[in-house]
Amino acid sequence: MKFKKSQKLYNKGLVNLVGAVNSPVRAFSSVGGNPLFIKKAKGSTITDVDGNEYVDLVLSYGPMILGHRHKKVEKAAKKALKNGYSFGASTENEIKLAKIVCDAFPGMDKVRFVNSGTEAVLSGIRLARAFTGKDKIIKFSGCYHGHQDALLVAAGSGLATLSLPGSKGVPEGAVKNTLIAEYNNLESVKAHFEKFDDIAGVIIEPVGGNMGVVIPQNDFLKDLKELAHKNGAVLIADEVMTGFRSKFGGAQEVLGVEADITCLGKVIGGGFPVGAYGARNEIMENVAPLGGMYQAGTLSGNPIAMAGGISTLTELKKQNPYDKFEEIGSIIEVILLETAKKYNIDLSVNRFGSMLNPFFTKTKVTNFEEAQTSDTEKFAVFFWEMIKNGVFLPPSQFEAWFLSSALKDKDIKKIADATDKAMQKVADSF
Ligand SMILES: *Cc1c(COP(=O)(O)O)cnc(C)c1O
Repeated sequence: MKFKKSQKLYNKGLVNLVGAVNSPVRAFSSVGGNPLFIKKAKGSTITDVDGNEYVDLVLSYGPMILGHRHKKVEKAAKKALKNGYSFGASTENEIKLAKIVCDAFPGMDKVRFVNSGTEAVLSGIRLARAFTGKDKIIKFSGCYHGHQDALLVAAGSGLATLSLPGSKGVPEGAVKNTLIAEYNNLESVKAHFEKFDDIAGVIIEPVGGNMGVVIPQNDFLKDLKELAHKNGAVLIADEVMTGFRSKFGGAQEVLGVEADITCLGKVIGGGFPVGAYGARNEIMENVAPLGGMYQAGTLSGNPIAMAGGISTLTELKKQNPYDKFEEIGSIIEVILLETAKKYNIDLSVNRFGSMLNPFFTKTKVTNFEEAQTSDTEKFAVFFWEMIKNGVFLPPSQFEAWFLSSALKDKDIKKIADATDKAMQKVADSF
């Protein structure tokens, strides 16, 4: 497999782009080598500029749940394009997408569309503060909630991969109201509530996806909500990754817990830039123009993005691929575990529906600290061998792999064959 054109573009990209990427998760810092440049994608397959074809388990970090270039989505976006790209005024499709979203999440009466997951969460946090009149927010170590200042502490994959403790450029004042707790550890949350009486909310990825996949144990989420409410705080579910992916109603539907405020992104736009935050009426009425919490956006509710979101979610609801995801997901999980066993490699796999990933550790991973026991050098070897055998993975031990409904039997076969070669390479290298 040759990467000559990617290499050339990478060198060229370094001149006017930072590290030749527009998001650091796309850099190959933790696996070595240089990023691949992509030419095109269709269905379950992605093709780089050198013409190498891969089964895509990155899926734009989640949004492409139907696979790439689904016919209906493409048709809807093209149709919208012909009517104009942006008006700075309301359109009917915003109402349509809002209804789909509110129907999917029973805890949402109203929703506000924004342009990214980051925007959704920073607005959701502002809303929690506006509604409760309190300032502090509890977040969990290893959870990522976008790159806003206040939550850019102990924030998972991108930072873990780059080994940064937080981020430069974030003033102390910006994080002074952020409290860190440990995932799956209710006592660590209780300790904060005992110490502070001005906690507005607890924000969580209901299933962790940015420290690798980490699943809430027992009734963690339910207990968390109860604890928050007892202390006059709200539960904010950051479902940017899990929304419409774990189930149509997100991880909340699977886990049977309704959050007070829900933040969405990724799948909701099907690859177009859409984010959203929503809650019951009593909370959403605090948002301008109904209430005093200001939040705005020139391109929010963009007509092409709305058309992309509506068609993606409509098709997703029709396909209802969640049982199929469970089936394919467990097949891949077994492939990973059995192959690791065959080559005598310590491996722990976490999976929640169509999100999964292997950790190169024998430790069962239920929080960020345990995730960090993974051998990232082994992952780097594994990653490159998977690439060379035609499977496109996120270039980090701490990112989830995603499944799309476009996966075919031959893709699973390709994943199995590549996994065997990659595990063998890991065994030979250490
Ligand atoms: C991706 C992600 C975000 C940030 O979304 P962007 O669209 O990248 O700004 C926030 N929260 C979670 C849980 C995510 O996975």
